[in-house]
Amino acid sequence: MATEHATVAEEEYLQTLFWLQEAELPMTGANVARAMQLSAPTVHEMIGRLERDGYITRAQDKLISFTASGLEHAQGIVRRHRLIERFLTDVLGITWDEVHEEAERLEHAMSPVLEERMLAAIGDAKTCPHGHPIVGHSRLEGVPLADVSEGASVTVLRFENEAEDLLHYLKEIGIEPGMKGTLAASTPELVTLSSEDGGEIAVTFSVAETVSVIADPSPPPRIALPEQLVLARERYGR
Ligand SMILES: [Zn+2]
Ligand SMILES: [Zn+2]
Repeated sequence: MATEHATVAEEEYLQTLFWLQEAELPMTGANVARAMQLSAPTVHEMIGRLERDGYITRAQDKLISFTASGLEHAQGIVRRHRLIERFLTDVLGITWDEVHEEAERLEHAMSPVLEERMLAAIGDAKTCPHGHPIVGHSRLEGVPLADVSEGASVTVLRFENEAEDLLHYLKEIGIEPGMKGTLAASTPELVTLSSEDGGEIAVTFSVAETVSVIADPSPPPRIALPEQLVLARERYGR
């Protein structure tokens, strides 16, 4: 039977599993370990605990599925995370590259009453400041900026990886969800966008893999690489 309250550690794992599911990546221990930068034995132990506590089940092929209770908990924590981020940017005026870690801390300690008040305070915002739908709203399908061909018009949809270092980098170079532009150049090292206001923004190719956009003409959709959710700085090739 599922216990009523997940621990903070369990909530972190459930959140990661939800991110994998949303990105259509296989929910496996290996992908969890990669996304959370934890060792296989550590993840194995916690996956076992989540199973015993009734939040997940595991198939023969090691694929993980949420139970109804697990999904409910995962959705709750992800919804609170994105809501808090939106509240911190829109109501408290904190810049969007500074809110992810704050939300990581606050999301575990939020009462339903506070959640309701925050939801009212953010008005009609439907996503976190990085473009992820606050659970209940639909998730638009995007393509990686890295796949887009030169000359295509582009609208930045979402940052698939919210590692704070990466968000600082994206903020620094001046790219953000909702931004429109044209893909000026794409090389194996750099993707260059001309923004609508005439500025040029160059993104390293590996970072461009983590930025989802809507493009016209659009490359074919593809599932994200597991590496896109990896939180390690050295993976970004910068
Ligand atoms: Zn976040
Ligand atoms: Zn976010």
